[in-house]
Amino acid sequence: MGKIELLAQDVVNQIAAGEVVERPASVVKELIENAIDAGATQITVEIKEAGLKEIKVIDNGVGMTAQDAEVAIARHATSKIRQTDDLNQVATLGFRGEALAAISAVSRFTLLTKTADDVAGTRVIVEGGQIKEVSPVGCPRGTQILVEDLFFNSQPRRKFLKSPRSESGAIADVVTRFALGYPKVAFRYYSGKRLNLSTPGQDDLLEIASIIYGKESRGQFLQISHAEDGIEVQGIISDPGFTRASRYYQSFFVNRRLIRNYLLSRALENAYQGLVTSGHYPCAIIFLTIDPRSTDVNVHPTKSDIRFSDPQLVARILYHGIRDALADYLQQQRMPEF
Ligand code: ADP
Ligand code: MG
Repeated sequence: MGKIELLAQDVVNQIAAGEVVERPASVVKELIENAIDAGATQITVEIKEAGLKEIKVIDNGVGMTAQDAEVAIARHATSKIRQTDDLNQVATLGFRGEALAAISAVSRFTLLTKTADDVAGTRVIVEGGQIKEVSPVGCPRGTQILVEDLFFNSQPRRKFLKSPRSESGAIADVVTRFALGYPKVAFRYYSGKRLNLSTPGQDDLLEIASIIYGKESRGQFLQISHAEDGIEVQGIISDPGFTRASRYYQSFFVNRRLIRNYLLSRALENAYQGLVTSGHYPCAIIFLTIDPRSTDVNVHPTKSDIRFSDPQLVARILYHGIRDALADYLQQQRMPEF
């Protein structure tokens, strides 16, 4: 007998879950992404005890049929890509087919879902990766996912979590950035019984910015819109007089995917060079639209990093877009009033 054996499926799933579900905020991120991919216009997030006791995400998207609802929680089960070539042009936020499998492997998980065409909905209950129940239920169109007792079967992961305050902070951060990234979607976010964020879903980014950054931010943003070499830069950036002492108030979306990328932050800050004092950072919500074929989003299981085939070009175009908008704005400010 050899010493090497293939791991059993549940062990494989637990290992994989560790990469996707680092903390409660990762669950919230994955579930919001799924709701957006399902075309939801209303997304409600409710958490209890920093997401460890309970995370619930409710959407009014397309829902799933009974058959799909059961398959959805299997690993590598996805409706979003079919073949290798699709990986070159991912148009949805999800594509790895891992989130529901991972989340349901490390929690007590209940999925309720219904499509517009079905009369009855479906409930799937999974505990630590084991399906406990699949049954028809009455529910509205859309999907509700309830995640209870996250990491109940994964003590090591529980130990590495930060304080409840910092875990709920990370969740609020995720919801806030999605609210900024998707102004057409009405978000509601409850922590305990408290409604912490509510956006109208009326496609008004400035309005959402003022809900999130405070009323004093109103009138402090300028719109940017720039296109060059097939790359578009849209969004809002702050007046050089309206800065913050951290980069926290910057969000970048590439093809509507929230990403963290040092190169993009640098390009933004370079454009403000000489306009803000050191240690202060502009606020910005930037949307880059670029041919998916010149990006790679399959860098990490959390899908929050991206590679560009020509990173310098992307940085330069972003820089131009911001610099031009700032130059126009400053010019206007200097114009004498009539
Ligand atoms: P991925 O998003 O990468 O496809 P997931 O594990 O997150 O993988 O979801 C698996 C599948 O379940 C999705 O491809 C989708 O078809 C379905 N699904 C998940 N969440 C929802 C939702 N909120 N509404 C409708 N369908 C969903
Ligand atoms: Mg997904």
